[in-house]
Amino acid sequence: MLLVDGRNSLPSLRLSLRALGNERNIQPTDALRAQLDRGTVARTTLSFYRYVHLADPLLLRNSLFTTWEAMGVLGRIYLAKEGVNAQLSVPTNMFQAFRDAVDVQAEFNGVPFKIAVEEEGTSFSKLIIKVRPKIVADGLADEAYDTTNVGEHLDATTFNRRIEEGALVIDMRNNYECMIGHFEGAYLPKADTFRGAIEEVKEVMTLRQRQGEGLPEVLLYCTGGIRCEKASAYLRHHGFSNVGQLHGGIIDYARQIKAEGLTSKYKGQNFVFDGRLAERITDDVVSTCTQCGTPNDRITNCKQHCCNLLLVQCDACATKYANCCSPGCREIHTLPEEVQKQWRKGRGSASAKSKAITDPEALRDLIRHEEELLSINGTLHPELTSISASTLPNS
Ligand SMILES: [Zn+2]
Ligand SMILES: [Zn+2]
Repeated sequence: MLLVDGRNSLPSLRLSLRALGNERNIQPTDALRAQLDRGTVARTTLSFYRYVHLADPLLLRNSLFTTWEAMGVLGRIYLAKEGVNAQLSVPTNMFQAFRDAVDVQAEFNGVPFKIAVEEEGTSFSKLIIKVRPKIVADGLADEAYDTTNVGEHLDATTFNRRIEEGALVIDMRNNYECMIGHFEGAYLPKADTFRGAIEEVKEVMTLRQRQGEGLPEVLLYCTGGIRCEKASAYLRHHGFSNVGQLHGGIIDYARQIKAEGLTSKYKGQNFVFDGRLAERITDDVVSTCTQCGTPNDRITNCKQHCCNLLLVQCDACATKYANCCSPGCREIHTLPEEVQKQWRKGRGSASAKSKAITDPEALRDLIRHEEELLSINGTLHPELTSISASTLPNS
């Protein structure tokens, strides 16, 4: 559009500022939230993915952002030349409009949505759409395997039946995701990355194959099915042809179980990558508190900002350690915010994608050691004395 007079220049400037904002993912988060909250908007949490060639992910990103933002969509979406991976929440009254907007995009037409079982509307606080080299960071070279040569997709009923028939079930998620819920009897990888897990699984399968009875049918599952696409392709590439995968992952399994009144062979909670951290599938508690070892499956992050460690914490330990992982973190976290800020200077905060505790025994040793030191010295952070003195001169 040509600018013919001065009257058009202001809206045009606004538009370009808006486009710039979009490009940088600048989001008036609080304003937007307030706006959506004012109408006490009911939201639907959903996810979808598709391996499909996207010619210009950045161009697509900007147009999706504009459309979706206007609908009040929140979430985290990755686009790459290899496809889309989206986790988001949509105001429930915009659901059909959103479905239509997705279908209008030829590459996404008809992509199945996986709707979350629990809908608290607190899953995401902003809309982030990122262009990435890959939609699943697998750490593997593209030539390493053919991503279109995938295993058999199984629905919940078939998956359950094949388990009863003696298939080997393998969890394709990371160690900390398996912690609070998994299929009964499944192999749970010890690795904390997808790359590590996939190679670990390949070794386990190779070993089983060499043993007396050979390798039974292998069934893979993950959160939403996307990682199994890669894992099954990778395993098929390495000669394991008898591989099936749970279509739509645990998220859709839970939905089918509920809708069809099936028995869930998945026990406990499903780890999710949004503010909720977990979605309950069954009432079973399959994990223990990382700190005291009693049965518990409340997953949380250490509230000391520089730590942010992911752990399972019972209510008693949450009280005892002030929602932190250790006495050391508790000492910092319970200080006045001003002092904490000073203490954090130069330390840098832990990344949002935090590490999980994989060795509870080591953590319990650390806690015992720190409690001991604390009772002797009165502090685990001697540097706090000068920080407190300079920050709170009257105390
Ligand atoms: Zn505990
Ligand atoms: Zn901590």
